[in-house]
Amino acid sequence: MAILVAGGAGYIGSHTVQELIDAGKEVVIVDSLEYGHQGAVLAKKFYKGNIGDKEFLKKVFRENDIEAVMHFCAYIEVGESVTNPRKYYNNNIVAGIALLDTMLEANVKRFVFSSTAAVYGQPEKVPISEDTPTLAVNPYGETKLSFEKILKWYGEAYGMTSSVLRYFNACGAHPNGHIGEDHSPESHLVPLILQVPLGKRASIKIFGDDYPTRDGSCVRDYIHVSDLALAHVLAVDRLIAGKPSITCNLGNGVGFSVKEIINTAREVTGHKIPADIVARRAGDPAELIAESDRARRELGWKPKYHDVKTIIATAWEWHRKHPSGYGDR
Ligand code: UDP
Repeated sequence: MAILVAGGAGYIGSHTVQELIDAGKEVVIVDSLEYGHQGAVLAKKFYKGNIGDKEFLKKVFRENDIEAVMHFCAYIEVGESVTNPRKYYNNNIVAGIALLDTMLEANVKRFVFSSTAAVYGQPEKVPISEDTPTLAVNPYGETKLSFEKILKWYGEAYGMTSSVLRYFNACGAHPNGHIGEDHSPESHLVPLILQVPLGKRASIKIFGDDYPTRDGSCVRDYIHVSDLALAHVLAVDRLIAGKPSITCNLGNGVGFSVKEIINTAREVTGHKIPADIVARRAGDPAELIAESDRARRELGWKPKYHDVKTIIATAWEWHRKHPSGYGDR
């Protein structure tokens, strides 16, 4: 029996495939390679195609004995989701439903879903538990939240069980140095900072320093991508063991400001990393910190990386050794 990893050639998908393989699981990857990378395909079984293409998907389910599906195929750019929402609704919702429906036709009913802290929008207080009201403030967050609700109703009607994992700020790279973060365009803080010591940009922009936080810059909960990956393995095992659907936050429970992350990257790289304060980025909440007690309790999840310096060091190792990422863009 195999785990189907849709989006397994992406950043979090490829790290999850690595953890699944390490746990002795059989893995089948599906990825369109629109954003994923051939160099990040770690499983022997790989199908290149889009999850919105039902004939393609049916073939994958016909040719493999799939016991559960993990779904990482989403567009993730908040700004783009505001200017081009149809792209987000078509991929993140419509194509996702094609995946769910093909699963049902194949009688596969266990699903692990990549969700996000963006479902909480601008929460009034931190840390954020899973019971914090969800109020997405952009189409990206909205598509993730809608898909969570689709899973709830598919669960009630068709007996599909799901693990919804709400990620906080994924960063870092596998310590084996073979896989890491390579988005184009890049919009995430840690890889953007590291482009400065790589000589790819002159400075990093700090989006606002007038937030009500300890140093005025935004605070986020940075979690190592391999820790996120581990949670997926535990989540799928829990479903395979017959446990009911669950929604879990995944974060370290500790917040770091943008300025603190830049300072840590200066320590790790030994580079000055000039920073400029610029205007706030629209829609950025001041502070997002996870309460992840449920994942620890129900999944038995124990993140291994607590120290943000170590997390950034793993990212630096990857970027230093792969300055052009996978080199395919
Ligand atoms: N950020 C920044 N400069 C950048 C990119 C990001 O100051 O060039 C800030 C952003 O405003 C947020 C934090 O870094 O407070 C993390 O942003 P990222 O886009 O990595 O993740 P998000 O929190 O939006 O999921």
